Amino acid sequence: MTLKGQTALVTGGSRGIGREVCIRLAQEGADLVINCAGSLHGAEETAARCEAYGVNTLCIQADVSDAVSCGAMFAQAKEFSGRIDILVNNAGITRDQLLLRMKEEDYQRVIDVNLTGTFYCMKEASRMMLRQKYGRIISISSVVGLRGNAGQVNYAAAKAGIIGMTKSLAKELAAKKITVNAVAPGWIETEMSEAVSDDAKAAFLSQIPAGHPGSPADIAHAVCFLAQPESSYITGQVLCVDGGMAM
Ligand code: NAP
Repeated sequence: MTLKGQTALVTGGSRGIGREVCIRLAQEGADLVINCAGSLHGAEETAARCEAYGVNTLCIQADVSDAVSCGAMFAQAKEFSGRIDILVNNAGITRDQLLLRMKEEDYQRVIDVNLTGTFYCMKEASRMMLRQKYGRIISISSVVGLRGNAGQVNYAAAKAGIIGMTKSLAKELAAKKITVNAVAPGWIETEMSEAVSDDAKAAFLSQIPAGHPGSPADIAHAVCFLAQPESSYITGQVLCVDGGMAM
């Protein structure tokens, strides 16, 4: 129980990778603030699974792309535990389309949720972590942010943006005992990846040296590693968890 006494805030914790990250951090003893956009029921189910490990939880419905909602969420989190030791920027969406057919609103929404939401949460968390003189900020990027992907210029831009944001903030906070890292998943079996066409799935699978998709637990394991106090000398890094896809 290496994270006992710590509090983690995980955005998009109602299902998929976010849920698994919450459960993994709870196994290590961290109390959890579980964010979701609309699926409060899903967040409550995540909370119940975390509480089985004896930790405290708080579910907060908030759109990360809205600065006011993010501010209110961190204020509630502060009331709940007085501190945020670990921030996991996991909330994300896709609105895939080839560039020439991509609507401006679909471009903008993907940037707003994936990238601007990460910016708002980083800003709120950094303020608290600077006061605490301790913190771990971990953002979920993607192999697509490193390699690009046809039909995902909006998503790839947001996920590449997260990497630039991570490295820049890591430099700002390195001397303050706050680390800032990204995890770049490859193909992970969740509702998000399930929505992709069979042809696209086959194309993805053919590019994975390991020969099979990953699971949310694979990502949770990497996040948990970076969240440990012992990972204090690792900052500004992008940890690919992709079966070798981005090599
Ligand atoms: P998912 O199953 O679709 O879950 C997405 C989560 O994000 C949900 O909890 C959702 O909450 C939340 N969310 C969406 N919009 C939000 C908003 N505006 N404010 C707050 N929360 C919001 O996706 P996933 O596959 O677990 O993906 C999690 C992260 O990993 C994403 O950042 C994704 O881009 C990244 N990733 C996934 C894969 C993959 O293959 N699955 C690969 C690379 C990277 P609600 O349930 O309330 O809508």
